Amino acid sequence: MTRLFCATGNAGKLREFRMAAGHAPVEIELLPNFRQIPPCVENGATFEENAILKARHYGPHASGLLFADDSGLEVDALGGAPGVYSARFSGPHATDEANNRLLLERLRGVKNRTARFVCAIALVEGTRVRGVYRGAVEGAILDEPRGGGGFGYDPLFYYRPFGCTFGEAADERKFSVSHRGQALLAMLGALGA
Ligand code: IMP
Repeated sequence: MTRLFCATGNAGKLREFRMAAGHAPVEIELLPNFRQIPPCVENGATFEENAILKARHYGPHASGLLFADDSGLEVDALGGAPGVYSARFSGPHATDEANNRLLLERLRGVKNRTARFVCAIALVEGTRVRGVYRGAVEGAILDEPRGGGGFGYDPLFYYRPFGCTFGEAADERKFSVSHRGQALLAMLGALGA
């Protein structure tokens, strides 16, 4: 059984990672003192850069392997925005509602609605990077929110194979196809787990 520490304060992400790992012989644990460690400055230009920054920041606090992720939404008609700024799209004190409103404003009258959620995971041992893994899921941005589930941009993200938004899909269903799950499985594959 391989033990992997996850550098996140987000219990939902941990649940998603654990579910994606399924029966793989890995134990995914929260970094015990995560909240006591000063936060990492995430000023990378890409998801990969931010995941590496985070993993190398927290890695020395873990006894063994640690991974960190960075994720967000890329909208083709906006040249890939909000991208690494997904969480703060509408400003430093952004809320999911304000971000979704701004996204709809920016896409008003725009025909091409294609978009994807992307997740990059960096795996480290101390500060040494063992690998960087990427997952993505393709969808389209609706012109109004649908469904109260999930978080972030989920209610606007229409996933054609489900015929509904991620906000309307049950968590387990979303997790089974999510960008985070795919990035995690790529990491587990590289670890031979
Ligand atoms: P982070 O990886 O925690 O920095 O997340 C960045 C931001 O991307 C989140 O605050 C959300 O706005 C957006 N995001 C990332 N993953 C998802 C998802 O699965 N659903 C909806 N929004 C997401």
